[in-house]
Amino acid sequence: MGDKRDLYIGGQWQAASGKKTFPVYNPSNGEVWTRVADAGREDAKRAIEAAQEAQPAWAALPHSERARLLSKAADVLTARQKEFQDSLIDEGGAWVGKTMFETGYSIGVYRAAAAAAYQVTGEILPSDHGKLSLVVREPLGVVSVISPWNFPLILSSRGFAVALAVGNAVVLKPSEETPVSGGVLIAEILEEAGIPKGVFNVVTCSRDNVAEVGDELIANPLVRGISFTGSTAVGSKVAAKAGGLLKKCCVELGGKDALIVLDDADIEQAVNAATFGSFMHQGQICMSVERVIVDRSVAAEFTEKFVQNTKKLKVGNPREMANCIGPIINQKQLDKIREQVDEAVAKGAKVLCGGGNEGLFFEPTVLANVTREMKIFREETFGPVAPVLVANGVDEAIEIANDSEYGLSAGIMTRNEERGLQVARRLHTGMAHINDSSVNDEPHVPFGGVGSSGLGRHGGRAGIDQFTEMRWITLERGGRHYPPPFLMNPGH
Ligand code: NAD
Repeated sequence: MGDKRDLYIGGQWQAASGKKTFPVYNPSNGEVWTRVADAGREDAKRAIEAAQEAQPAWAALPHSERARLLSKAADVLTARQKEFQDSLIDEGGAWVGKTMFETGYSIGVYRAAAAAAYQVTGEILPSDHGKLSLVVREPLGVVSVISPWNFPLILSSRGFAVALAVGNAVVLKPSEETPVSGGVLIAEILEEAGIPKGVFNVVTCSRDNVAEVGDELIANPLVRGISFTGSTAVGSKVAAKAGGLLKKCCVELGGKDALIVLDDADIEQAVNAATFGSFMHQGQICMSVERVIVDRSVAAEFTEKFVQNTKKLKVGNPREMANCIGPIINQKQLDKIREQVDEAVAKGAKVLCGGGNEGLFFEPTVLANVTREMKIFREETFGPVAPVLVANGVDEAIEIANDSEYGLSAGIMTRNEERGLQVARRLHTGMAHINDSSVNDEPHVPFGGVGSSGLGRHGGRAGIDQFTEMRWITLERGGRHYPPPFLMNPGH
C-alpha cells in the first residue's frame, strides 16, 4: 500500500498526474492537518476507465461473493473504527460521540449492502403471445459518487455501497473538506477487504479543480449513473447536466426541516427532540431541525424549557465527550450562519440564548419572534440555530411547515398517534417522524426528499432500483403471429 493520502485508481495508490496536493484543515484549531492529492480531469478519466475495465468481471461474480466482500469491508471497518473516529474529529470537526455513531452506523451500511446483493429480483409477466416474459435488473456500469463533508463516512458509503453490491464499479470523489474519512481511508478498507482492483476508485481534489473533475465524473460517456449528496446549489446543476446526457442520477440535497410541537405533545420529549435535532453536529445535518413550529397553547412552556436545555450544551474541543458542540466546518459556513442570525435580529427576531461565536465555534442559539420574511425561515442555515415560530392550531402548523422550497424530513410531537399519522401524511417531505426529531436514518430505508431537497432515493430496495437498469426480455414459444404477407409460408 502506498502513501495513504494518494489517489486510489485501478487498485494502485498514486499521486495526482500534476503531482499537486492540497491542504486539509482542522477546523478546531485552524491548522493544516494533512495534504492529499489534488486530481485533475485526466486523473478522473483514468479512474473511470479503470472502473469500466473492472466492472464486467465484478458484475459476473456470484452475488454471494460480492456480498461476502462487502461484509468483509464491514469487518475491516469494525476493526479500524478508531482511525476513522480520529480523522472525523480532526478534519471534520466532529464531536467524539458523533464519530462513534458514524462509524457504527456505517458498518451497518456495508452489512445492509451485502444483504441487498441477494435482493436484486425480477418479475415474470403474463404475455399476450404465450412468451416467457421477464423483467430483469442489471447494473448500470460505472457509477460516479460525489459526497459532502458533514457525515463523510456515512454519506460516501451510502452513496456507493448498494451500487457496488448490485454489480456496478465506482469512482468516488469525497468532499475537499474531508477527503480522508470520506475517501482515502474508505479505499484502504475496501482494499483490505479484497474488493478487486478497479472496482472501487477514489479521486480527491481541491475546490479549484472540482469543476473539471466534477464535469468529467458526470459527462464522461463511460459513466452511466451518478449519486450526489450535497447542496441544492451544486446538486441541481449536477442533475441538470446528468439529465441532459440522459444519465440516471440521484441527488440528495439540502433541507429546512420542521419540528411541529402540537398542543398535546409531551413537552419534555419535544424539548429533547428539538435540542438533539437542532444542535447535533452543530446543526450541520441535512435533516437538522431548522424550524421549530409550536402550538400557541404550549409555546411559552416549551420555549422556556428548550432554552434551559440548550444552555446546558457545552461548546469546545470536540475530542472531549463533554463538549457536544464543536466547530463549524469553515469560515464560509460560519459567515452564512452569522449573516442569517444578524438579518433575523435586524428584522425583529429575539435571541433567547447563544448568538455569539468564538472563531469557528458558534454557540447553540434559540431565536424567537421569527417571521417568514427572514432568511432564517427560508434558507438552509446548516448551523446551531433553532428559530421558533408559534402556530394557531394544527392546520396553521402544517401550513407553515409546508411553506418551504425544501422537503426532506420532519418531526411531529403529539400524544395522539392517529393525529400524528394524519399530520405526517399532509407534510410535503420525503420523510416524516412522529414523536421524534427530523434526524433519522437507517441503512435499508428509502432516504430522500422532494422539491429542492432532491430527486431519487438511497438505501435498501430503493437503492437497488436506483443503481440498476430495468430490462424486458422475452422468449418466443410459438404463439406470436406475424401478418401473412411477411411469412415465408403464409399457408402454415
Ligand atoms: P456542496 O454541494 O458544496 O459539496 C458537495 C460535493 O459536491 C463535494 O464533494 C464538492 O466537492 C462537490 N462539488 C462542488 N462543486 C461541484 C461541481 N461543480 N461539480 C461536481 N461536484 C461538485 O455541499 P457540502 O457543503 O459539502 O455539504 C453540505 C450540503 O449538503 C448541505 O446543503 C446539506 O443539506 C447537504 N446534505 C444533504 C444530505 C442529504 O442526504 N439530503 C446529506 C448531507 C448533506
